Amino acid sequence: KEEVLRKPDWLKIKLNTNENYTDLKKMMREQNLHTVCEEARCPNIHECWAVRRTATFMILGDVCTRACRFCAVKTGLPNELDLKEPERVADSVVTMNLKHVVVTAVARDDLKDGGAAVFAETVRAIRRKNPFTSIEVLPSDMGGVSENLQMLMDAKPDILNHNIETVKRLTPRIRARATYERSLEFLRRAKEMQPSVPTKSSIMIGLGETKEEIIEAMDDLRANHVEILTIGQYLQPSKKHLKVVKYYHPDEFSELKKIALEKGFSHCEAGPLVRSSYHADEQVNEAAKH
Ligand code: SF4
Ligand code: SF4
Repeated sequence: KEEVLRKPDWLKIKLNTNENYTDLKKMMREQNLHTVCEEARCPNIHECWAVRRTATFMILGDVCTRACRFCAVKTGLPNELDLKEPERVADSVVTMNLKHVVVTAVARDDLKDGGAAVFAETVRAIRRKNPFTSIEVLPSDMGGVSENLQMLMDAKPDILNHNIETVKRLTPRIRARATYERSLEFLRRAKEMQPSVPTKSSIMIGLGETKEEIIEAMDDLRANHVEILTIGQYLQPSKKHLKVVKYYHPDEFSELKKIALEKGFSHCEAGPLVRSSYHADEQVNEAAKH
C-alpha cells in the first residue's frame, strides 16, 4: 500500500461556517459567474470577501482546455464565449464593494486570441464601473502569442500575475502545455510592454522540489524583472491529482520569504495557506512605492 503523508496540524483549519455569504453566492449563480474562492473552497474566503474586500473571478467559462496535474478546474470542451461576461463581472465588483479584484481565466487554447479580447474588456468594464478598485490579472500564457498579451496590457491592469507554478525540473510533469521558459518570457514581455505595471508570480511547493531549485526559480523570476512572489503549500485536490511529497513547516516558509526579499522581490507572501491572490491588496500598495 502506498504511503500517504499525514496532514500537519497547521493545515487543519476550520472553515468559517458562520458566514455563509448566501446572497453573494446566489448572485454568482444568477449571474453565471465563477470565483476561484468558491470553486477551490479556499479557506481564506471570510478574510478576503468580508474583511479585505477582495475576490478572484474566473472568466471565460469553468472548463479548461488544459489539464494540469495539480489543478481542480474541470477540463474538456470549453464553454461558448460569453461577450456579456465583462459587464456582469464589473457589476458584481460593485455589489461586493471590492477594493481589489483578481481576474483569472481558464486556458482557452481553442480561441485564436486565447481569450485576450474578453479578458481585456473585463478589465476595462471593471475600471469604468469601479474606478477605485485595483485590478490584478492572472492569465494563462495565452498560447505564448505576444499580441494576446499586448491586448491585455493595453487595458492597463494594476498588477500582471502569471504563475510559473513550480520549479524548472518539475514543470513538464506538472503543467500541461505551458513551459517554464515561455512563462518567464511572458512575464518579461509584460514588463517591457507596460514598465509601470508590477509583475508577479507564484509557486506551489511540496511537489518534490529541492530548496536549491526553489532558489533557482526565484533567480529566474528576478532575472525577468518579476517584483512580487507568492509561495504556498501544494495540497492535493483529489485522489486523481498529484500526491503531496512534502508538507513544509511554517518556519521553512519564513526562511524562503527572507531569501526572496534578499533577492530583491519588493513583496513576498509565503506560508502554508498562501494562495496566488492572498493579501493581494497589500501588494498593490507595496508595488506603488517602488
Ligand atoms: Fe479568493 Fe484568493 Fe482570497 Fe482564496 S485567497 S478567498 S481564492 S481571493
Ligand atoms: Fe488549471 Fe490553469 Fe492548468 Fe487550466 S491552465 S488546468 S485552469 S492551472
